[in-house]
Amino acid sequence: MKSSFLITRDVIETIVNRLSGTCVFISNLGYRSRELYSMADGPDKFYMLGSMGLASSIGLGLSAVLENREVIVFDGDASIIMNLGSLGSIANFARKNLHVFVLDNRSNASTGGQNSPTAMRTNLFKIAKAAGVDKVARVTDKRALMLVLNSKELPTVVIVRCTDSNIIPPVIPLSPIRIKKRFMEYLHHGE
Ligand SMILES: [Mg+2]
Repeated sequence: MKSSFLITRDVIETIVNRLSGTCVFISNLGYRSRELYSMADGPDKFYMLGSMGLASSIGLGLSAVLENREVIVFDGDASIIMNLGSLGSIANFARKNLHVFVLDNRSNASTGGQNSPTAMRTNLFKIAKAAGVDKVARVTDKRALMLVLNSKELPTVVIVRCTDSNIIPPVIPLSPIRIKKRFMEYLHHGE
């Protein structure tokens, strides 16, 4: 295994460790939310358990109304492809406090690892650029990830090439309503 090899849960852990405190986190359904929950659950996290593709849209809306916080979205390759309109909206309306990390494992990991379009011809970096997003980064190793995280201004969209962990993350025991309520309470008290 090359040292540059990025594993999904390591990417999430690295980003959360670096950015917790000033940020809120929105995560895509499936393994990404489950990994985030298992490593760093808290009221500053919103797990989108039910709707594939909407994490980036939720992040965009949230970033428009949060004055003093950064919004970090953990999205998936297949999910953002399911909701490509979101990239057009982000290109035109996102403020500087929105940062969408697309964990591109080239598969639908949560449903059995079927190939996603990025395993074939589809290039999310080019799609984000073509949608009009100015600040798009592409990360394939730990060094590049740290460069992005240590940059003065985080990009709007970061495409992170990574591979799934061998560890199956636990199911999130919280109900969607509980997740929403505690997140909203956190936002009200934290702002
Ligand atoms: Mg995927």
